[in-house]
Amino acid sequence: MKDPALGTDFVSAGMVNAVTVDGGKVTVALDLTTPACPSKDVITKSVKDAVGALPGVTAVDVKLGAKLWGRPNHPSNPRLPGVKNIIAVAAGKGGVGKSTVSTNLAAALSRLGAKVGILDADVYGPSVPQMMGEPTQTAGVQSGNKIVPAVHHGMSVISVGFFVERGGAVIWRGPMVHKLLQQFIEDVEWGELDYLVVDLPPGTSDAQLTLAQAVPISGTVLVTTPQEVALADVAKALAMLKRMSVPVIGVVENMNGFACSHCGEVTEIFGRGGGERFAREHDIEFLGGIPLDVTVRQGGDVGVPAVAQREPGPAAQALTALAQTVAARMSVRAASRDQQPVLTIS
Ligand code: ADP
Repeated sequence: MKDPALGTDFVSAGMVNAVTVDGGKVTVALDLTTPACPSKDVITKSVKDAVGALPGVTAVDVKLGAKLWGRPNHPSNPRLPGVKNIIAVAAGKGGVGKSTVSTNLAAALSRLGAKVGILDADVYGPSVPQMMGEPTQTAGVQSGNKIVPAVHHGMSVISVGFFVERGGAVIWRGPMVHKLLQQFIEDVEWGELDYLVVDLPPGTSDAQLTLAQAVPISGTVLVTTPQEVALADVAKALAMLKRMSVPVIGVVENMNGFACSHCGEVTEIFGRGGGERFAREHDIEFLGGIPLDVTVRQGGDVGVPAVAQREPGPAAQALTALAQTVAARMSVRAASRDQQPVLTIS
């Protein structure tokens, strides 16, 4: 039996944790590569079917755990050693839902059982503090000048918004922004994290370049809305990432339709299909669409991400599916990197 994402059999991939046999009852414990694995049901069924078909087996129990695969820590960029995967979220321009995707992607991964942090690097428009609501622990500075992240919805969060007055503008020149971002990477006690979601500034600014160079990004999710003016800008962001050799996971199309809560009719306010076309033309994966949904905007305003709401709206499902797809792609990347030969130049 093969893991559907890795294409490798469970035994070779080292995912079989234990097999116990008690009379006719067999229990198989598997360690998935991420707690956000989108194929849990498929895997459970395939193991049950295969083991159940063996002679003498009367019952099969499948226990799924997770041992997260991550990037190998590389001596050439030893930053963030405790972070297994760094997911950047980028957009060509403001207002397309980049911070919404960042916060919901992070919250969905956390709700699926991963240890998650958010680095809000959108220095000139930090919306993560607003979108995450009141923290259970505020950010602060420890002795030794280490910055302790805030805790929101069980996640470690750092944002420039914590260090400027609410409503105040960040009027900083490039070198100050550079220094701040460097501190967010080097001086924050991130601890051990499965995923660090980095909300990049929109466009192709200095701050984006700083981050792309300083952080060993494992993969980037591009966010766009379907209309042409947004697609033209996201193409520039993609070109910059490619030029900097930053890995891109794919593109997500936000606000791709609005379903009327009264009559159910879907209106495609910004069009539809632009993100998918963009993905095809640029040979990257289309990661799916997220509909316009009033609970997303409401949640963003009051600090409860759509995926964490008690009565989730139609976008929450799409955002959780996005998080699962991204987690699966990160596992595949981690696996293929492990198999890459290591070159030592002496
Ligand atoms: P960006 O980070 O790209 O500037 P934001 O994530 O701040 O964009 O989103 C801009 C506004 O649009 C916010 O008020 C947010 O709540 C809202 N928004 C984003 N995506 C959706 C969606 N799918 N449905 C409804 N509102 C959305």
